[in-house]
Amino acid sequence: MDTTVGTCGNCGGAVTVPAAWYATIPPTPTCVRCGAAAKMQHGPVLPMEEPRRAVPGDKELWCARLAQCLANVEVEAPLTAPER
Ligand SMILES: [Zn+2]
Repeated sequence: MDTTVGTCGNCGGAVTVPAAWYATIPPTPTCVRCGAAAKMQHGPVLPMEEPRRAVPGDKELWCARLAQCLANVEVEAPLTAPER
């Protein structure tokens, strides 16, 4: 017995999963009409701000953030000669 979990985005058919399965990995929701499998999802798509820290592999962003950090350090602790 299958449980209907949604409507196929390709053909409008019923997308189902088995009501019970005997494995640790849950079954992939599949369209009964065209056989398409549901795409991997992690939940609803949320509107997002830009990331605050550099993403590994994004060299340009990393360099820009590094320059920004160095500039901030300079402002917070300026290197001045001690007064005599
Ligand atoms: Zn379908």
